[in-house]
Amino acid sequence: MIFKHDVLIVGAGLAGLRAATEVAGKADVALLSKVYPTRSHSGAAQGGIAAALENEEPDSWEWHMYDTVKGADYLSDQDAAEILAKDAIRAVYELEHMGVPFNRTPEGKIAQRFFGGHTRNFGEAAVKRICYAADRSGRVIMDTLYFDAVKKGIKIYPEFHVVDLVYRDGQVAGVVAYELATGEVHFFHSRVVLLATGGYGKVYKVTSNAFASTGDGAALVYRLGLPLQDMEFVQFHPTGIWGLGVLITEAARGEGGVLRNGQGERFMERYAPTIKDLAPRDMVSRAIYTEMAQGRGINGRDYVHLDLTHLGEKKLAERLSDISSFVKIYLGLDPAKDLIPVHPTCHYMMGGIPVNIDGAVTDEKDRAVPGLYAAGECSCISLHGANRLGCNSLLDLVVFGRRAGMHILENLDKTPWIDPPEPPEREAAGRIKGLLENRNGEKPVFIRRELQQTMMDGCSVFRDEAGLRKVVETLAELEKRACDMSIENCGKRFNTDLIDGLELRNLLSLARAIAVSALNRTESRGAHSREDYPARDDEHWLKHTLVRQTDQGVAIGERPVRITRFQPKARTY
Ligand SMILES: Cc1cc2nc3c(=O)[nH]c(=O)nc-3n(C[C@H](O)[C@H](O)[C@H](O)COP(=O)(O)OP(=O)(O)OC[C@H]3O[C@@H](n4cnc5c(N)ncnc54)[C@H](O)[C@@H]3O)c2cc1C
Repeated sequence: MIFKHDVLIVGAGLAGLRAATEVAGKADVALLSKVYPTRSHSGAAQGGIAAALENEEPDSWEWHMYDTVKGADYLSDQDAAEILAKDAIRAVYELEHMGVPFNRTPEGKIAQRFFGGHTRNFGEAAVKRICYAADRSGRVIMDTLYFDAVKKGIKIYPEFHVVDLVYRDGQVAGVVAYELATGEVHFFHSRVVLLATGGYGKVYKVTSNAFASTGDGAALVYRLGLPLQDMEFVQFHPTGIWGLGVLITEAARGEGGVLRNGQGERFMERYAPTIKDLAPRDMVSRAIYTEMAQGRGINGRDYVHLDLTHLGEKKLAERLSDISSFVKIYLGLDPAKDLIPVHPTCHYMMGGIPVNIDGAVTDEKDRAVPGLYAAGECSCISLHGANRLGCNSLLDLVVFGRRAGMHILENLDKTPWIDPPEPPEREAAGRIKGLLENRNGEKPVFIRRELQQTMMDGCSVFRDEAGLRKVVETLAELEKRACDMSIENCGKRFNTDLIDGLELRNLLSLARAIAVSALNRTESRGAHSREDYPARDDEHWLKHTLVRQTDQGVAIGERPVRITRFQPKARTY
């Protein structure tokens, strides 16, 4: 079938929802989501959303901006960081007025808590800046925005999996989507497409991300030959449940939890003497790996302990109830009495589809691609630079999702309908048919497992040239094997085997973009730690990486960093 809407938003996480609710009522907008919208990964966010509300203690947006830029190891584009920090206050009150049930202070104001890298007075001490709803902040914001979308009558296509961007003469004409319930392939004709498809933590074996976080939007853009930006910067969150990667929110440390090594020592005191366990994630993850490498893991093994025992049952029940139940369910431990085994888990992608501060997708020359937008974790503004601060992502989604919606509306009259090449869904339908008919190839799951292990071994927290070269070689082999994969289930209804196959191709493309970018950057900055180049090198590397696919292979480019207020300095905490 052919569907037609002025504006198509792919992804119903918080970025997609916030953009859609901005456009609703003023233009014909539809949301497509491969999972049921409220199952988007945004709903799993635990810790909260950052804003200098000053409800608990003095704070300012300038301090928030500074922390964002310093946390990013100075790779953040500072115009974007300024918008984020300033607009945060309006954005959180807007959510409150929509009905988000934030925790409260005794006076009834929105309560705030500590989080990694958020400080007062330019790094003096930790500051209470995070607005939260226990440890299910994403869930309540998600449900509130979804309700708003339904109330505004936005047309939603749930469980429609976008497989192609339709693009002609440098302009967007819509998308092609596979309907999970029927197995049919449809063309959606539109003037504008906004990609809000989330992250791709599933490139790694150990991750806090949902199964659906496979980076489809970024892969679609990459496949068109457009660049991706800063792909080498992959955030590992310090506290994933050992062996599983399920997240224990940083709020656990924000509420007073501490990390201990095999000797029972609170080791973060050595790495970040001022804010200790509340240092940014890249530093804490490196510290954990270093402790383990030097034999101070628990019993010499590959984990450390998160100690919440001194917080007391009441606080755990009130502020950290979800993670307490995860610890009980997955480990059979009681966080009020037992130490929790944790290790770093792949959590967030700083890199993605390059966009300007209005969400328009841009090429190497900063020219906007007509009709194409991106927002949320799949995009790279670049706000989070080389390392994102906790609770700045939910904020990014609602601030920049809204801005993209506003910009789309302002420019819609000037955005023409592009006639698609005829018929636009034919190629995707053929590709899917080919996959279903190939009987003797390998199953996607085996290739995916190897991919995830390869990235874990050679391209996680610490990297070096030899390891990265090996990753790039292995990925090329896996890509070849994936050309001949077979799907076991040939059915038409809810064929999740087929979806696994489609997603695997995206994961492989993005893994290659990550590894090639990481090999190229011969310095250490933020989440990108090269053991063979341990120092930050501003003279040569204070710039963004661009990576694109060409007929000759992967090509690397660059783009300057926009520095307005804060000149790069040594980064100590
Ligand atoms: C466990 C966890 C806890 C977190 N906690 C916090 C926190 O406390 N604070 C914070 O600031 N950040 C947190 N983050 C980060 C933050 O939640 C994410 O970065 C953010 O939710 C991403 O939102 P999004 O709107 O970009 O995409 P998502 O919420 O991931 O949604 C992606 C959407 O795209 C759709 N989609 C994807 N591919 C396709 C396709 N091919 N076709 C159609 N639809 C598609 C999906 O169906 C989904 O609707 C956390 C992340 C995790 C994993």
